[in-house]
Amino acid sequence: MNPLDKAKSSKTFCILPWVHQYVGPPGDVKPCCLYEQDMQIGDLKQNTLEEIWNNDSTKQMRLDMLNGVELPGCAKCNSRANLTTTHKDQFNKFLFNNNSFGWSPTSISDTIFSALIS
Ligand code: SF4
Repeated sequence: MNPLDKAKSSKTFCILPWVHQYVGPPGDVKPCCLYEQDMQIGDLKQNTLEEIWNNDSTKQMRLDMLNGVELPGCAKCNSRANLTTTHKDQFNKFLFNNNSFGWSPTSISDTIFSALIS
């Protein structure tokens, strides 16, 4: 299955770890502002954003999302999955359906794939 089809079929996939980072005031780095407050994927006091973008935690998060794993840091989105539209769903629809940022399905797929092999 190609990366884009895998992403679309995963209930826990979120595009944000591929296109976005959030930095909190103390330097904690997360994929987004909804990520659980006491969890992070890196710390700007110890690493650069580029290093955090490609660290083991971020890569594992991307793989887990493609494989349908519910991440503890994404509990707010996953716990609401059956109730209403989540932050994650809105971003996924924005990118998959509206050709946002001028991305074609091929370039989204390439972005997902290249992040997995880098
Ligand atoms: S699933 Fe929700 S909490 Fe997790 S990165 Fe996406 S928007 Fe953030």
